Amino acid sequence: APSIPTDYEIAQSAEKRHVADVVEPFGLDREDLELFGEHTAKVKLEAIERLRAEGEADGKFVLVTGMTPTPLGEGKTVTTVGLGQAFNRIGKEALIAIREPSLGPVFGVKGGAAGGGYSQVLPMEDINLHFTGDLHALTSAHNLISTMLDNHIKQGNELDVAVNWVTWPRAIDMNDRVLRETVIGLGGDVTGVPREDGFVLTAASELMAVLCLADSVKDLKERVARIIVAYDEDGEPITADDIDATGAVTILLKDALKPNVVQTVEGTPAFVHGGPFANIAHGTNSLIADEVAAHLSEYLITEAGFGSDLGAEKFMNIVCRFGEMEPDAVTLVASVRALKYHGQEMWPPDLADLDAEDVESVRKGFENLDAHVGNLRKFGVPVVVALNRFPGDTDREVEAVLEHCEDDLGVRVAESTVFGDGGEGGIDLAEELVEAAEADSTFEPLYDLDAPVKEKIETVATEIYGADGVEYHGDAEDDIRRLADLGFDDVPICMSKTFHSLSDDASLKGAPEGWTLEVKEIYPSAGAGFLVVLTADVLTLPGLPADPAAADMDIDPDGTISGLF
Ligand code: ADP
Ligand code: MG
Repeated sequence: APSIPTDYEIAQSAEKRHVADVVEPFGLDREDLELFGEHTAKVKLEAIERLRAEGEADGKFVLVTGMTPTPLGEGKTVTTVGLGQAFNRIGKEALIAIREPSLGPVFGVKGGAAGGGYSQVLPMEDINLHFTGDLHALTSAHNLISTMLDNHIKQGNELDVAVNWVTWPRAIDMNDRVLRETVIGLGGDVTGVPREDGFVLTAASELMAVLCLADSVKDLKERVARIIVAYDEDGEPITADDIDATGAVTILLKDALKPNVVQTVEGTPAFVHGGPFANIAHGTNSLIADEVAAHLSEYLITEAGFGSDLGAEKFMNIVCRFGEMEPDAVTLVASVRALKYHGQEMWPPDLADLDAEDVESVRKGFENLDAHVGNLRKFGVPVVVALNRFPGDTDREVEAVLEHCEDDLGVRVAESTVFGDGGEGGIDLAEELVEAAEADSTFEPLYDLDAPVKEKIETVATEIYGADGVEYHGDAEDDIRRLADLGFDDVPICMSKTFHSLSDDASLKGAPEGWTLEVKEIYPSAGAGFLVVLTADVLTLPGLPADPAAADMDIDPDGTISGLF
């Protein structure tokens, strides 16, 4: 096989057009944009208001999700970008929408978050670094709330904030694990009141979720106002509004709210906006970007983080509800290496072993794929499996997957080679998706909002994760009672679970059976409008690996960057 140049080489040699020319055929003028150089823009809020006034957002939604991935990623972003390009090649107008990267992972684990090969978004060095400053704005806005809260406590604590019941941490956009748990306020009376604190990654801040769900400055303000930052000595919530932070925080976020638009290698417009965690938050790019795209184009291809058990479940049960939209088709990205990974009886897995041909393990791995197909079918949305072909995959392995999907599962399937071939490599997949999306949708979320909290949790645990039931540990049952008293129980639930397994145990591969989901804590994200259900220790501030990507990065005097991708 001819070798594919590196992502950076492809990005450098790609011919980029002016971003205004890229979006013009879709109905945005230069005056609708705030330009950041030639290749990046934000869409002005006035332009969004104009689109709303002009008519319905009636573009069709194609959601991209995946089977339970290996730690290397199975190609959801690559498939999303490639599909956008493929749709345009078969004469269907399409835009894509993906999340914006956080600096934490960029410097931590190798691999950009902007696609790869001939299916990537450009300019990827900007997108992976400061981009339009949204992450920086969020970090500042987040820490403004922290500062105002601690200042309130120091200046006499009129609201009676319980210093050991502050729920608003600090935030940083860096994988700096030593800040996970800290003590602040040391230095005596002039400094403040000492208390335990901690940091989360900016992507894990509730403000990120808030930004990604807000549809206007007004909505953003209302959501910020509702955020619970602490409880008082009587257990009553104290909000961002109670400490008078609403206005200033919203000012810091007014530009971050505007969706960013760039282009793919083949010139398909791409919204890259917002990047919430897919465990303690909903894990998809901003709703406002989705909405704009649905106004501008016949199709929107958008990616949900992790598998059908996390990003897709949340997209269907949370995002679609809030955005009053429906997915018209879902594509489930599968890879030969992920199937092998689930089929091999080895823990911890040896990732190098996934390169050799092993049809037997691929077959054993089908149970994971099957569970994800089953999950998606429960929402009544047509499913198309996308087999993302990697260079080392053999014909026998690929055939086995295609046959299984067609003959055993009766699900639409197409091989995709968009990484190496760009849009051309996704035409079969795009055609399957168009057929699927044009059928009548029978989409339905999985649970009713007014069902009891426990019932909602049990529905997701048994229907999606394949658990036998749910056990509540620690204060989880008290949390549920308290939330009902506060009137916070008729909202969607946002389950926080490992992405390494369909179960809550990262070491269990395939489709685990005969286990019980353990719920540890439930807390409200009142600004976002959902309840977070913690099932195990989730890392909201990851650390760097032994050999961080940052250590291999460099920049030459002429500005040429190496090691970033
Ligand atoms: P996800 O979004 O599912 O986490 P990505 O699309 O980011 O996965 O892909 C993970 C990594 O694998 C990226 O570095 C990407 O460039 C690479 N990759 C994805 N698909 C292929 C492929 N078909 N061939 C080679 N590399 C690929
Ligand atoms: Mg991705």
